[in-house]
Amino acid sequence: MKKNCIVIGAGISGLVAAHELIKNDWKVTVLDKGKGVGGRMATRRAGEARFDHGAQYFSTKTPDFRDFTQTIINANVAKEWHLEAGDKAFSHPRMIGINGMSSIPKFLAEGLSIKTNEKVISISDTENGCQVETESGNFYQANALIITIPAPQVLELLEKSTISCSKSTLEILQNIQYHPCIAVMATLNQKTNLPKPGGLSFETGNISWIADNFQKGISPIFSATIHANPAFSITHFDDDLNLIGKQLLEEMKEWIPADSIEGFQVHRWRYSLAFERNPNEFLIADSISFPTIFAGDGFGIGSIEGAYISGKNAAHKLLA
Ligand SMILES: Cc1cc2nc3c(=O)[nH]c(=O)nc-3n(C[C@H](O)[C@H](O)[C@H](O)COP(=O)(O)OP(=O)(O)OC[C@H]3O[C@@H](n4cnc5c(N)ncnc54)[C@H](O)[C@@H]3O)c2cc1C
Repeated sequence: MKKNCIVIGAGISGLVAAHELIKNDWKVTVLDKGKGVGGRMATRRAGEARFDHGAQYFSTKTPDFRDFTQTIINANVAKEWHLEAGDKAFSHPRMIGINGMSSIPKFLAEGLSIKTNEKVISISDTENGCQVETESGNFYQANALIITIPAPQVLELLEKSTISCSKSTLEILQNIQYHPCIAVMATLNQKTNLPKPGGLSFETGNISWIADNFQKGISPIFSATIHANPAFSITHFDDDLNLIGKQLLEEMKEWIPADSIEGFQVHRWRYSLAFERNPNEFLIADSISFPTIFAGDGFGIGSIEGAYISGKNAAHKLLA
C-alpha cells in the first residue's frame, strides 16, 4: 500500500513538498484554509485591475531554486522584472509571475490533491499515524504530516491538538517571528508617476514599498500596491482600514496623484516576512508518535526561496 501524507498549507512550501512526495509514489492530500492556493504569493482582482498584494518578486541564490525558476520561465509562468539599475535595493534582476505572483503556486498545484477552505483545527494520533480535523467538520488520516503554516499559527494549532511536542521543539517554533504588513491596493484611472520599471522601496516614512502593477505587466488597467513598513503596520494593525488606506495613499501622492484614484482596498497580513528564523531548513517534531515535520519560510534563508527549499527538503527527509 502507498505511504500517505497530509500537508497543511498550500503555499509554495507545502506545494513543493507535495510534489516531491508524489514523485516518489506517496499519496498526498494538501489542506489549506484559504479559498485558493498560494498563501502569501497572492494576486487579487478588483474589477479589471489586478494586484500582487503579498510577495512582490523573488530572487534566486541557490542552484536548486535556480533550476525551479528556469522550469517556470520555460513554462511561461514566470519572467524577469528588470528593476532600475542604480537603486541599491534593486541592483539585480527579480522574478515575477507572468499573471501575478499567484501564477506560480497555481502552476505547482496542477495535478495535486488539494482541499481548500479546509482550516485544520486539531491534530491527533491514530494507530497508523495521524488524524487532522478541519473547521468544516472533516477528518483526514495519513501516516505522516508536513506542516507549512507560519510558526505562530503552528503553536495555536498545537494548543488545540491532543499531540504534544517536546519543550525544545516548542522553543524553536516560539523563536520564529514575522513582521505584519498592511497592504493598500488602489485602482487608478491614469498611470502612476513611478519611474520604469514600476517598483520603489523606501527607507524613511511609513511605507516600505510601492509597485505599479500595470508597468509590472500583471494588470491590464492602471493599479498600484503599497506596503506599509513593519513599525506602521504594528501600530495601526487594528485601525479603521479605510482611514489607513487614505493615510497611506496621501503619503504616496507624489507617485499616485489623488485625482487618479478610482478606489482602493486594504489587506492586513499578520505574517509577512519572517525576520527571526530557525537556521535549519526544517524541523522534525521529536516527541510525536508519527513522522511530523515543520517547514516554510520560518526556516533557513526565508522568503519565497527559503520556503521552497524548506518544503522540498522536508519531503526528502520524510522519504529518507
Ligand atoms: C506583504 C508581503 C510581502 C512579501 N514580499 C516578498 C517578496 O517580495 N519576496 C519574497 O521572496 N517574499 C516575500 N514575502 C514572503 C513570501 O510571500 C513568503 O516567504 C512565502 O510565500 C512563504 O511561503 P510558505 O509556503 O512558507 O507560507 P504561506 O505562503 O504563508 O503558506 C501557508 C499556507 O497555510 C495556510 N494555513 C494557515 N493556517 C492554516 C490552517 N490552520 N489550516 C490550513 N491551512 C492553513 C495559509 O492559508 C497559507 O496558504 C512577502 C510576504 C508578504 C505577506
